[in-house]
Amino acid sequence: MSHTIVWFRRDLRIADHAPIYRAALRGGVIPVFIFDRSLLHHPETAVARVAFLLEALKALDQELRDRGGRLIIRFGDPVDVLPKLIRETQAEGIYAYLDFERIYGRVRDAQLNQALAEQGLKIRWFEPAGTTADLIPYPDYRALWYSQMESGVLPTPSRIDLPDGVSGEPLPTLAELGHLPDGKPIPPASIHAARQLLQDFLAEKSDRYYWQLSYPSAEATTGLSPHIKFGVISVRECYMTAKAHDPQGNWKVARSQQQLIARMRWGSGFAQRFRYMPQLEVRSLYSVFDEDGWGFDEELYQAWQEGYTGFPIVDAAARCLKATGGWLALNFRSRALYSSFLSNLLGMDWRYGALHFMRHLIDGDCPIDHYQWAMQAGVTHCIRVVGK
Ligand SMILES: Cc1cc2nc3c(=O)[nH]c(=O)nc-3n(C[C@H](O)[C@H](O)[C@H](O)COP(=O)(O)OP(=O)(O)OC[C@H]3O[C@@H](n4cnc5c(N)ncnc54)[C@H](O)[C@@H]3O)c2cc1C
Repeated sequence: MSHTIVWFRRDLRIADHAPIYRAALRGGVIPVFIFDRSLLHHPETAVARVAFLLEALKALDQELRDRGGRLIIRFGDPVDVLPKLIRETQAEGIYAYLDFERIYGRVRDAQLNQALAEQGLKIRWFEPAGTTADLIPYPDYRALWYSQMESGVLPTPSRIDLPDGVSGEPLPTLAELGHLPDGKPIPPASIHAARQLLQDFLAEKSDRYYWQLSYPSAEATTGLSPHIKFGVISVRECYMTAKAHDPQGNWKVARSQQQLIARMRWGSGFAQRFRYMPQLEVRSLYSVFDEDGWGFDEELYQAWQEGYTGFPIVDAAARCLKATGGWLALNFRSRALYSSFLSNLLGMDWRYGALHFMRHLIDGDCPIDHYQWAMQAGVTHCIRVVGK
C-alpha cells in the first residue's frame, strides 16, 4: 500500500483538512509534526501559546489514535527532517497546507522545495480555504472568501492507517522545550472544545454580540481565536455552523451571526494580505512612516507594558494581557485602545507594541497582530499633513 506524509503546521485538526483527507483516500498516512527550534525560540514566541500548541497536539494525536493512527513527533529543521523521513518510510511524498504567517516560514518552505527537488522527492501544497495565489482587489477577495466558505467542509477520514515501524518522539513538555510557564490559564485546546465554544456562543451570546463586542468588560465574543490561530477548527466549519444556526426570528441573533462571519472574514484577509506583502511583518505599509523615525522611551515603554501609565483603562488592559494572554478577556476594542496609546499618545514605533503582544497573546497571529498594530498606529493610510 502506498503512503503519504501529512505535515501538520498551524492546521492541527483532521476535520475539514484537505491534505489528510486526500492522503487517507490514497492509502497509508504518516501524520507528522516537527518542533522547529527557530520558531520555538523566536523573539515573538509566547510561552502560553506554546503551552496551547502542546495541548492542541495532544488532542490531535488522540483524534488520530481514535482512527487507528498516531501523531509522529520529530525535532529539527524541516528542510533536513522531511527528506530523511520520506526515505526512511518509503513514502510517496508530502502533503501540507501552504502557510504565509511569517517570512521565516516562507523561506524555509522554499528551501524545502529546493531540497526535495534536488533529491527527486515530492511535496504537494494545498491552498487553505479563504486564500488565493492571485493578487486581487479586496471586493474580489471578499467574493472568493464567501464562495470558498460556502463550498462545504471536507469529510473527516474514518480511518488513518499508519504504516508499521514508523517511530517518533514522545510529545515534549513545556520545560523540555526550554520554556517556563508564566502563569496564564490555558484554555482547553481541541476540536471538541472549539465546537463547544461556538455552540455556547450561539446559545448564550449571539443576541448581544453585535452590540457588545466592543465593550471592554462584556465577554460577548466566541473565544475561538487560539483555535483558529492553530487551525484546531477550520474557519469554514465555524462559518458553516454560524450560518446554519436558526435565529428563530430573533433579528438580533441574525445580525450577530452576520457580524461574526464578517469578523472571521476580516481575520482571513490579514493572512491573504501577508501572502503578497510579506514585508508587512517587519515594516509599515508606507515606509515613509518608518523613515520619518519614531520616538522611544524605555521608562514609558515599561510603564505601558506593566500597567503603570496612570490611565486606568490602559493599565487594566496591560495587566489583563499579562495575566490572561488576552483570551476572552481582552477583546478587539481593548486591544485597539491599549495599542493606540503606545503609538499615538507615546509616539513609539508600533513594532515594539506588536512584539510585546506576540510575547503574551495566546491567539498571537503575526499577520493579524502586526497589521492591526499598524492600523491602530495609522500607518496603513498615506495621508500626510504638510505645514500649517
Ligand atoms: C492591536 C491588535 C492586535 C490583535 N492581535 C490579534 C492576534 O494576534 N490574533 C488574533 O486572532 N486577533 C488579534 N486581534 C483581533 C481581535 O482582537 C481578536 O481576533 C479577538 O479579540 C479574538 O477574540 P474572539 O475569538 O473571542 O473574537 P470573535 O469576535 O469571537 O471573533 C471570531 C474570530 O474572528 C476573527 N476576528 C475577530 N475580530 C477580529 C479582528 N478585529 N481582526 C482580525 N480578526 C478578527 C478572529 O479569528 C476571531 O477568533 C488584534 C486586535 C488588535 C487591535
